[in-house]
Amino acid sequence: MMNKINIASICPATEALGPGLRGAVWVKGCPFNCPGCIAPDWIPFQKALLMRPDEVVDELFSSDKIDGITFSGGEPMLQAEGLARVAQLARQRKEVNFICFTGYRYEDLINKPPSAGVTEFLHYIDVLIEGPYISKLNNGIGLRGSSNQRIIHISPRLSDYDFENCLRRAELHIRDGEILVVGIPSKNIESSMNLLTKSLY
Ligand code: SF4
Repeated sequence: MMNKINIASICPATEALGPGLRGAVWVKGCPFNCPGCIAPDWIPFQKALLMRPDEVVDELFSSDKIDGITFSGGEPMLQAEGLARVAQLARQRKEVNFICFTGYRYEDLINKPPSAGVTEFLHYIDVLIEGPYISKLNNGIGLRGSSNQRIIHISPRLSDYDFENCLRRAELHIRDGEILVVGIPSKNIESSMNLLTKSLY
């Protein structure tokens, strides 16, 4: 039986992480420790929400209107086997598209996969946004944290969306008494949000 996925959070509806209405899944645990990471709480390899792939998909489809799913973290490629199953089950429900953020380079994922299931997971991904976050290269535009990150169109789906130049969006979602920042905020908004979330926790 497949291991559960260590989930940091799930958002069933956002317009801030790619084209259309999207579900988003963040996993917990990342080996990169990029200075200035927007999700530092999700870097430690600690147990969070342990969920089966079908449970993740049920939550993502609580709004049946999503056009796609965005995977982020933490580091999705370290939990690729479970996320590939999420993608497979999601596609059985609807022809959704998939975007994935990763700190790994595409070539390394192909040549030295960091976990079981990476090859299968990549088979489902339409757009991979890859490479570590480098704060000084955060130019405030596009669906990526910094300009060193490459946007790789693995499939033709979403080829008409301008990932490099689209305006960034960030949404505040309040859930179970906590504030979740969804999207890629500008640097100024990011520091304001950090103050806000800290003051309200
Ligand atoms: S790869 Fe992403 S999640 Fe991991 S530390 Fe870097 S910015 Fe944060």
